[in-house]
Amino acid sequence: MKKHNFYAGPSILPQYTLDKTIEGIRNFSGSGLSVLEISHRSKEFVACMDDTIALVKELLDVPAGYQVIFLGGGASLQFCMVPMNLSEKKSAYLVTGEWASKAFKEAKLFGEAVEVASSKDKNFSYIPKNYAVPADADYFHITTNNTIFGTELKKDPDSPVPVVADMSSDIFSRPVDVSKYALIYAGAQKNLAPAGVTLVIIREDALGKVSRQIPTMLDYRTHIKAGSMFNTPPVFAVFAAQQTLIWLKEKGGVKAMHKINQEKASMLYDEIERNKLFVPTVSDPEDRSLMNICFVMAPEYRELEKEFSGFARSKGIVGIEGHRSVGGFRASTYNALPVESVKALVDAMKEFESKN
Ligand SMILES: *Cc1c(COP(=O)(O)O)cnc(C)c1O
Repeated sequence: MKKHNFYAGPSILPQYTLDKTIEGIRNFSGSGLSVLEISHRSKEFVACMDDTIALVKELLDVPAGYQVIFLGGGASLQFCMVPMNLSEKKSAYLVTGEWASKAFKEAKLFGEAVEVASSKDKNFSYIPKNYAVPADADYFHITTNNTIFGTELKKDPDSPVPVVADMSSDIFSRPVDVSKYALIYAGAQKNLAPAGVTLVIIREDALGKVSRQIPTMLDYRTHIKAGSMFNTPPVFAVFAAQQTLIWLKEKGGVKAMHKINQEKASMLYDEIERNKLFVPTVSDPEDRSLMNICFVMAPEYRELEKEFSGFARSKGIVGIEGHRSVGGFRASTYNALPVESVKALVDAMKEFESKN
């Protein structure tokens, strides 16, 4: 049976990416070697890295003065690398979920860190508005998409200080104005590649402003200078990222993808609103994520939760169980998830309703 993969991360990749990586495992770029066993300094892999960086720049319309690098360590390593490299005295954080809270915690190790606003009072089910960013902060950190709670900051923020954004789960899902950010980072395993690599986009003039000593491997400048080849980069994950970006470009880029993502999300949110068995966990449509769509059973049907999980599974729908801190369901509708999978979930919800 065809599987409909709604996992939150690692998550679905385009069939194109899977096919091309299988090809690359057998014979990478005509080298006669596998991508798993070739030197990162080989001309074939250097070309792959260069092209992947060029594709990121092209697809996100990265302006001059920015650098694109690929690092190991996951998005979570960025939680400490960001303050280590950018916070001299004070940083400001918008605390909109579990990942944002973890990032905020690390910032406190490197100076004063201010919580500008938080939505913790309502289990992170909304995006705080009308907050003031301190003008003396070195940067303002946001998490554009809150993977666990299903909220998304869909507008590039206006801020009196440089903005740093964790875009792990919505990068490449919509156009962003990169010039509004000093630094963007994203773990690859949601919308780009298998786990193992993190994309970082940095405005060069944001660096070199802190007085502390930075360990070589944790200094962004090391990796910029070495073209992400200071040490062995996650070769396989970068190669897979290149395939996804080629696929995305072919699909019409982030603008075309955004349109499809909006269609997929409205199809599912509309059904959640209509279906008597379910309610959305994020009430303001403005704040609802296009990537992670969270919903729970309506109070009078709560006891049907397990049964719906099993029913969905019987239809090939996998990965819709919500994170333990929210419960219920979370359907992740990343770029690679086809419209047909959303239709399959909507049909299952309808059929389950008619049975109950
Ligand atoms: C998944 C995720 C992370 C953590 O990524 P790792 O690569 O596992 O460290 C951080 N931030 C957001 C928004 C995420 O979705």
